[in-house]
Amino acid sequence: MRHGTAYCYNMGCRNEECKRAYSEATKKFRQARVQHPERMTQNAQGKNYHGTEYGYVGYGCKCDDCRAAHAKYARDNRLRKAKQRQQQKEMI
Ligand SMILES: [Zn+2]
Ligand SMILES: [Zn+2]
Repeated sequence: MRHGTAYCYNMGCRNEECKRAYSEATKKFRQARVQHPERMTQNAQGKNYHGTEYGYVGYGCKCDDCRAAHAKYARDNRLRKAKQRQQQKEMI
């Protein structure tokens, strides 16, 4: 995991650099939303980002769709980690 990113903070890290990166990202997001509201509904591919992990983490969107996507992502992540731990145990 790379520290000093909003993504890291969103994954539960409370490192000082990550907190700072997160508040920076939040500030930028707010500014961008005010200055370019049209950009805030589309990602680079012109697709709606809502309902994706990207919407939640990348844009800091907390709409129902994005929260659901993030919950699913976090759950999948947890399952994957649990599986990895299990595999590691089996190796020992
Ligand atoms: Zn971190
Ligand atoms: Zn959203």
